Amino acid sequence: MNLITQPKLLKKHGNAFQIEWKDGHESWFPYSYLRQMCPCAECAIIRHEGKDVHSLFSPQGDGDIDLIEVSDDIQPLDIQLVGRYALQFNWDDGHNTGIYPFEILREICPCPKCASLSPTQNEEDAE
Ligand SMILES: [Zn+2]
Ligand SMILES: [Zn+2]
Repeated sequence: MNLITQPKLLKKHGNAFQIEWKDGHESWFPYSYLRQMCPCAECAIIRHEGKDVHSLFSPQGDGDIDLIEVSDDIQPLDIQLVGRYALQFNWDDGHNTGIYPFEILREICPCPKCASLSPTQNEEDAE
């Protein structure tokens, strides 16, 4: 496993979830953002405006996360580790089917540094 997708510290804050990674990077995920990025099939379809994309998750920018209605003060009632590879959030809006692999969480890190590395779909063509 890659260091950048291994969490060193997981911490629940008032309105955000903090992950510190083994490579030293730190991610802060506001709960409303995490809820909108829910990787479950149901939410993925909403984000893609009804299109089934056969992937649990698509990169930022592909689909509109605002399509998923989330209250600004949404909170996780519970957060569970799924094996060693993912977290499952049980949201207080009753939604709990989303399993967030650490790989995805690192990918959707909203910090300016990671946001500027936004995934490009034609990356392979650049070789
Ligand atoms: Zn979902
Ligand atoms: Zn980041």
